Amino acid sequence: MKYIFVTGGVVSSLGKGLAAAALGTLLEHRGLKVLLQKFDPYLNVDPGTMSPFQHGEVYVLDDGAETDLDLGHYERFTNGKLSKLNNLTSGQVYESVIRKERAGDYLGSTVQVIPHVTDEIKGRIHEVTEKMDADVIITEIGGTTGDIEGLPFLEALRQFQDEVGHKNVAFVHVTLVPFIKAAEELKTKPTQQSVAKLREIGIAPKVIVCRSEYHVEDDLRRKLSMFCNLPKENVIQFLDMEHTIYEAPLKLQEENLDEIICNCLGLETKEPDMTNWRNMVDRIVNPTHKIKVAVVGKYIELQDAYKSIYEALTHAGAANDCEVDVERIDSEKIDSDGAEKYLSDVDGILIPGGFGDRGIEGKVAAAKYARENSIPYFGLCLGMQIATIEFARHVCGLERANSIEFDEDTPHPVICLLEEQKDVTEKGASMRLGTWEANLKAGSRAHDLYGADAVSERHRHRYEFNQDYREQMESAGFLISGTSPDGTLCEIIEIPAHPFYLAVQFHPEFQSKPTAPHPLFKGFVKASLIRRNEAGSKKSATSPSSAEPVTA
Ligand code: GLN
Repeated sequence: MKYIFVTGGVVSSLGKGLAAAALGTLLEHRGLKVLLQKFDPYLNVDPGTMSPFQHGEVYVLDDGAETDLDLGHYERFTNGKLSKLNNLTSGQVYESVIRKERAGDYLGSTVQVIPHVTDEIKGRIHEVTEKMDADVIITEIGGTTGDIEGLPFLEALRQFQDEVGHKNVAFVHVTLVPFIKAAEELKTKPTQQSVAKLREIGIAPKVIVCRSEYHVEDDLRRKLSMFCNLPKENVIQFLDMEHTIYEAPLKLQEENLDEIICNCLGLETKEPDMTNWRNMVDRIVNPTHKIKVAVVGKYIELQDAYKSIYEALTHAGAANDCEVDVERIDSEKIDSDGAEKYLSDVDGILIPGGFGDRGIEGKVAAAKYARENSIPYFGLCLGMQIATIEFARHVCGLERANSIEFDEDTPHPVICLLEEQKDVTEKGASMRLGTWEANLKAGSRAHDLYGADAVSERHRHRYEFNQDYREQMESAGFLISGTSPDGTLCEIIEIPAHPFYLAVQFHPEFQSKPTAPHPLFKGFVKASLIRRNEAGSKKSATSPSSAEPVTA
C-alpha cells in the first residue's frame, strides 16, 4: 500500500481537493486502484450541521454519510466508492477518544493529543486501507499548514511515515505562488515559509504544486527546489483552468505529476491513456448549442452551495452537445418582483434542495411560472416539495396548501413529516439519508429516461409527500412515477401533459459524473434545448426538436 498526503500552503481555497482528485484520475488511468479520503480539522462531527454559507454543499454518500464537498470531486474524478470512513473530522476523532476514555479503555492513563488523538487518526488510515481494497490512498488534509487545528493531523502523519516507511509515503504540498502586480513578479517566499513550517513538524514534501495565475518559470522552480530541498522537476505549476475543472488531470499530467509520484513511491505502471478523458473535456469545451437554465435557490451567491448540481448540469450539457449557462436567481427576489422579470428568457428552471422557510414563496412562484409557460422544470428534494405545493394550491384549489416545515397550521399539509422523523430531536445525521431504492412506473417519463424499473438514489430529507392527497392530485394531472419499493413514500413526481416537469425527492446530482452524466439531468437539458430551439433563437438543423414531452 502506498500513501499520498496532500497538504495546503499559504491560503485556503487553492483547489487542493481538485488537485487530489485529478491526481486520482491520473493514477487510475495508469491502472492503479485508488482511494481518496479527506481529513477535516474542524470540530463538527460532520458538515451536516453547518450552513452552506459556512461550508458549501453537504455531499451525501451511498451509506448516508454527510461529508465535505471535496468528496464530490473524488467521486466525479475517480471510480473509487467512498464511505463514511473516507471523511474524518476532528469532531469524530475527539468523540471517539472521549468515548474510549469514559469506557475506561485507556487503563488509567492521562489522555493526551499525543499519543491518543494521533493514534486515533493513524488508526483511521489503517481502518480504511484494511476495509477498502486499493493500491494507493490519497488523503487530503483540510485547512492550511500552520493552522492550530491541523497540528494533530500533521503530527499523526509524521509518525505514520516512520511506521510504514518513508519510501511508501509521498507528501504533496499545494501552495500559492502569488503575483505582485507592482513588481510584476511571482513570489516564492510564502511557499518557502509554509514548507519550512511543514519541515519543522518533520514532514518534507516530495512534490510542490504551485497554484499560480502565471507560468512558473524555471528560475523560480530552481529557487523553490533549493529552499525546499527537493529536485527542480518536483516543483510543478497548477494554473487556473481555462474552461473547466475537468482539464485538471490533463494539466497536471503535462507537468508529469503522476510520473513523479510513481517514481517517488516505486510504483511501476503502464503509461496512462487519457484519450477518453480528453474527448470528454473537448465535448465540454466546444459545444454547438447553448441554453440558459435558471437555478432558483437561496444560496445562489455562493459558488459552492450547489456544487454538485452545477457539475451535473455541465455533464448533461456535454452529453447534449450544449453549453449550460446557469443563471443563479435568488428566490426572495422572485417573491418580491414576480417570476416574469427573472424567468421570461430562460430555457429551463431548476429548484435545488434546501431547508427553512426563507425564499419559499418565490420558489413556488417559479414552479408555477414553469408549469404555466411550458418551461422545463426539474425539482430536487425541496424542489419536488415545492412542485407539490404549487400544484395543490393552483391546480387542485387547495388554498394555503404547504409543507408543515414552513406552515405548521396549514389546512392542507401536502408535505408532511416522515413517520420515522416524528420523535427525532437531534439535528446531526438524523434525516432520511443515503441510498434508497425507488420503483419506477412503466410508461412514465422517469422510467423512460432511466431505462430501468428500479433505481437507487441518495437522499437527505425529513419531509415527504402526504399520500392522503395522492388521489386528488393524480386525478388533476399529477403523476407519482416513482415510489419506495413498499409504495409508501413518493420518490418522483411529474406532469405528463407538460413538455418536461419532473421532480424527485432525492439528489441525483450526487451520482452524476463527467464520464457518466445522470439520465434525469440529461433529459432536463435535452428538454431545455428543445424549448430553446422552438423559441427560435440559435436554431440548428441538427438539434433535436419536438413538441412532445421529452423522454429518453
Ligand atoms: N427541507 C426539506 C426536507 O427536510 C428538503 C430537504 C432537501 O432539500 N434536502 O425534507
